[in-house]
Amino acid sequence: MIQQPSFSHDWSQQRWDSLGQRIDQATPVAVEQTLHKSRLSIDDFAALISPHARHYLEPMAARAQQMTRQRFGHVIQSYAPLYLSNVCSNWCSYCGFSIHNKLRRKTLSRDEIMAEAKALKQRGFDHVLLVTGEAEKTVGIDYIEQAVKILKPLFSQISVEVQPLETDEYRRLRNAGVEGLSLYQETYNPHSYAEHHRKGKKQDMNYRLNAQERAGDADFLKINLGILIGLSDWRQDSLACALHLRHLQKKYWKARFGMSFPRLRPCAGELANPLHINDREFLQLILAWRLFDAELDLSLSTRESPEFRNGISHLGITSMSAESITQPGGYAEGVAEQLEQFEISDERKLDEIKSALAQQGLMLIATDTHHFAEPERKS
Ligand code: SF4
Repeated sequence: MIQQPSFSHDWSQQRWDSLGQRIDQATPVAVEQTLHKSRLSIDDFAALISPHARHYLEPMAARAQQMTRQRFGHVIQSYAPLYLSNVCSNWCSYCGFSIHNKLRRKTLSRDEIMAEAKALKQRGFDHVLLVTGEAEKTVGIDYIEQAVKILKPLFSQISVEVQPLETDEYRRLRNAGVEGLSLYQETYNPHSYAEHHRKGKKQDMNYRLNAQERAGDADFLKINLGILIGLSDWRQDSLACALHLRHLQKKYWKARFGMSFPRLRPCAGELANPLHINDREFLQLILAWRLFDAELDLSLSTRESPEFRNGISHLGITSMSAESITQPGGYAEGVAEQLEQFEISDERKLDEIKSALAQQGLMLIATDTHHFAEPERKS
C-alpha cells in the first residue's frame, strides 16, 4: 500500500503565499455558483471566505441553517473544559499559561480531579474536554492517562486538548476511553507561527501539523481542528485549515471531524493589537465552514459573547462549551486570581443557555446524539 505523505510534507511559506492568491482570484460569480453546489471544492471555500461573499450573507445563512437541520436536527451538544494543570514549558505570545508569566501554577491531584468531576456532573455536563498546558514532566502521558481513568466512569464522553503526542501515546489514551482530540494549529503561516511561538517544543511547527494524523493512526473517533483567529490573516489561515481537513478526511474516512474558530481573548500574556476579524466576517467564516462541509461539527466557545452566541447558534453551530472556567480547580474551589488561561465572555449558567436556545427551537443536550457508530478497531 502506498503511504500517503503527511500534511507537513509540502507545507511551506510558498504554499501559504499561494493561498492569498487563490482567495484574491475569487469573483462574485464564483460565490453565487457555490451556493448551488452540493459538494464544494477548496476554491469554492476560498470564494465563500473572500471579501466578495460578504454581500451574500443572507443566502449563505439560509443554506447553512437548512444543511445543519438536515444533518444534525435541532440539537446542540454541550461540553465543559476541565483544566487539569496550568503548568507549561512553552512561551506563546498570546497565552496566560506561558512559562515566563508570573502565574500561580497548579496541577490537580487525584482528589482534586474527582472534585472537579463531581462539580461538573452536578452542573449537568456529560462531555468533558481535558485541558493541560504543555509540560511533559508535570503532565506527561502517564498523568493524562491516569486522569482519564479516574474520569471515565463518570462521563459519557472524554476528549483531550493536550500537547501533541506520539501515536502509541494517543493509543494509550484511546484505550483508556478518550474519543476525541482537539488540537489547533493556531496559525498555518510559518512566519507568524515562528513569531508567536518563542520557546519550547511547540516551536516545532511540523510536529504539530502531523499530530492529528498520529491520533488518526491511533483510531481516534473525533478530531477537531482550528486556528486562533488574530495571529495571522484569517482568510489564508482558514483556507490552509480547509486543506488540512480534506487531507485528514481522505486518510481517516471513518473519523468524525470538527472545527473551532477561537478569537483571541484578553489574558495574562503580552500580545497587543491582534489581527482583527469583525462580527460580520466571523459570521461569514462560520457559514462558509457549514457550506463547505455538511458533516462538520462546528463548535462555539465561551470566548464569544452571549449575544453573539444566541444570534449565530441556529445557523450552523453543533456544539457549545458552557460555564467554562479556564483554570485548574475552578469548578470545585471557585475562581482564583492569577490562574486562568484567558478571560471568558459568556458567563451564563447552563440552564440560562438552554432557555435562550429553546426560544429558537434548539435543544442543548449533555450527550452526543451526533455520534457515528464506533468503527472497527484496526488492531
Ligand atoms: S498556548 Fe498552550 S503551549 Fe502555549 S503557553 Fe498556552 S498552554 Fe502553553
